[in-house]
Amino acid sequence: MNKQQNVIVIGAGLSGSLLALRLAQRGYRVMVYEMRPDLRKVDISAGRSINLAFSNRGNKAMKLVGLEDKVKSLCIPMHGRMIHDQDGNTFQSNYSGRDQEYIYSVSRGDLNALLLDEAEQHENVNIHFNKKCKSVDFEKTTALFKDYQTKTEFIEDADVIIATDGAGSALRRSYFLGKKFLFSFSQDYLSYGYKELSILPTENGGYQTHKNALHIWPRGNFMLIALPNLNGSFTVTLFLSYSEGEYNFDNLNTPELVELFFEKEFPDALAIMPNLTDDFFNNPTAALGTVKCSPWHYKGNTLLMGDAAHAIVPFYGQGMNAAFEDVVELDAVLDKHEGEWEQIFKTYEKQRKKDTDAIADLAIDNFLEMRDHVAHPIFQEKRKIEMALEKQFPTQYASKYSLVTFNENIGYQEAMLRGRAQDKAILSLLKNNSITSSEDLSSVLKKVQQETENILNLS
Ligand code: FAD
Repeated sequence: MNKQQNVIVIGAGLSGSLLALRLAQRGYRVMVYEMRPDLRKVDISAGRSINLAFSNRGNKAMKLVGLEDKVKSLCIPMHGRMIHDQDGNTFQSNYSGRDQEYIYSVSRGDLNALLLDEAEQHENVNIHFNKKCKSVDFEKTTALFKDYQTKTEFIEDADVIIATDGAGSALRRSYFLGKKFLFSFSQDYLSYGYKELSILPTENGGYQTHKNALHIWPRGNFMLIALPNLNGSFTVTLFLSYSEGEYNFDNLNTPELVELFFEKEFPDALAIMPNLTDDFFNNPTAALGTVKCSPWHYKGNTLLMGDAAHAIVPFYGQGMNAAFEDVVELDAVLDKHEGEWEQIFKTYEKQRKKDTDAIADLAIDNFLEMRDHVAHPIFQEKRKIEMALEKQFPTQYASKYSLVTFNENIGYQEAMLRGRAQDKAILSLLKNNSITSSEDLSSVLKKVQQETENILNLS
């Protein structure tokens, strides 16, 4: 096949810059159009998930493009969740019983900049900033752009157009408005929003609380989390209802009320957040939603990837990882069907959609788990058992969290089905006192495996 085909990639965020690099490595000529200015020259990160949890599925994509080591140098290991109770007591719950399994905190800006650098250095890639895609003619395989600098509009065409332009995708809107085929689309918002806050470094650039953990202050109906940054600071995110409960984003409308809320609910966090109210009133409150749609592609002309195809709520720390994994999956399909775009897009979507639907549902589950269940004794008991099983039987047992986060060799759907069955099995065995944390672990493993298989066979 003629490898010098032209591909337009819309959006130079995390998935677009990675995709451009990979397609260029495969020999395609790639033109990337990004609506915002170049983030390596202008600071545009404020209030927009400054750092992210990065794990195995994302790393698999970095390996594919040869960037594993460079990305690792931007990462801070987080070995587990550090839970903070209302009195300021903490305990750490590791992510896995296997020593080498943990996740990382990475700066969105640094990671995106690295991917842009690597893509741009490739002779097959051209990146154009300040160019917003307004619509896509998916039948003609052309896209209409607005140049923010010259204030003019122009049309570009290519052999294929791939949209990685995030949750508000212009291509997805064109599918929807085009009404040329049956396009299913759902966007479900939580009644919760999020706001980014910060814990600054100490005077000599150190960390004010434990560096190698994802900190969580679970409070039932709301929660605070914090992830470390390389400069000693933490990016803190408050997840809170817009309008329900005693405290919500609507009624926290004065610095005094915000201080009072934190004094009552997060006193140990407040003690290291002297800039709380400035952050609170300077940073936006943003919405959290899930986007599902189908089909992702139109014939062999256009395709949606990353958040443009499947935006999810952030509670499993998998949105970016899934978007990166999209590139790995597409790459594998390209190996088999190179040159036959319609077949490539069809096969990719068929293989991938069940998995992105699964991680969307798991992310909602984890919202409930993080804000509420992690503080419950039975959940902590279950975690203890799971950690012990993973430690003693590293090849025979992996919790749902481990299957989703650390096993990049199975899809999200498989991880979800097995993981949910295991959760159900352990909780019911605990409730019936059929297992205890002091029992011989081989007997616990046997019972858990048996109960899990029963549940899987029934479903
Ligand atoms: P985006 O990152 O949204 O990039 C889209 C790009 O397209 C942007 O650069 C945008 O400017 C550009 N663009 C948009 N429209 C146009 C247009 N019309 N024309 C041209 N360019 C356009 N994921 C994790 O894996 N771990 C986490 O810990 C995590 N935490 C998160 C916390 C929060 C609060 C949120 C909101 C998300 C979190 N995510 C996390 C999810 C992650 O941010 C997304 O899944 C990821 O950014 C998706 O990458 P993307 O490239 O598909 O989309």
